[in-house]
Amino acid sequence: MDWRSFASEWEVAALRRGFESDVLIEGHGLKSPCSIKGSASLPCIYLSSGIHGDEPAGPQALLGLLKEGFFSEAFHWLICPMLNPAGLEAGTRDNEQGLDLNRDYRLCQTREVTSHIQWLSRQPIPDLFLSLHEDWESSGFYYYEINLGVEGPQPEQILEAASAFFAPEPESVIDGHGVDSPGWIYHSQDPDVPDGWPEAIYLAKRKCPLSLTFETPSSAPLAKRVSCHQAVVREAVKRFQAIIG
Ligand SMILES: [Zn+2]
Repeated sequence: MDWRSFASEWEVAALRRGFESDVLIEGHGLKSPCSIKGSASLPCIYLSSGIHGDEPAGPQALLGLLKEGFFSEAFHWLICPMLNPAGLEAGTRDNEQGLDLNRDYRLCQTREVTSHIQWLSRQPIPDLFLSLHEDWESSGFYYYEINLGVEGPQPEQILEAASAFFAPEPESVIDGHGVDSPGWIYHSQDPDVPDGWPEAIYLAKRKCPLSLTFETPSSAPLAKRVSCHQAVVREAVKRFQAIIG
């Protein structure tokens, strides 16, 4: 996959769809874009992907939604589609230094996460965070929810939207987490490893009330994973919109 073209395509499509874009970091001529749309007085939805460089479906899904005009006028949108540009280019989970960016949101040892946190701290606290990931060990779809006590989309709704592409992941323990029902992990707002904060834990510590981390199975065809991510993003946003009325 050509991630330089992806970044340029993203910037062009974002401009066309009313977003203002900036660059989180740049290295080897490869930019990591971040895009904002809508008044900050609107409910805020933040989406991110590409924090693990071997998970291309999330960035592709967000680019597809952007191009079709999915990101409506109803929300304040924040989007970071390729948080680990060097990892994406190399096709590796980690960044160039061999560090997992999604464990660096407490110690901030990487310039990717440092610049990302600086950018996030200038934005409103999102009301909803959607994080797009993939898993090399799973065969079905699953997702993590961190909820500080608000009404959110129900697991049946998210899993139903995913089911056109993938059944819920059948394992009862996924990545060391017991599922609450097949395909759904209700995660506490505390990190699994004290100093190894993922992005979603950082957002929870900043009082983002609801975060959903979607995981598609990497071994399945890319187009199917992209479509699944798009389906669950659509469903989550639709349900969130209905809840906030
Ligand atoms: Zn991941």
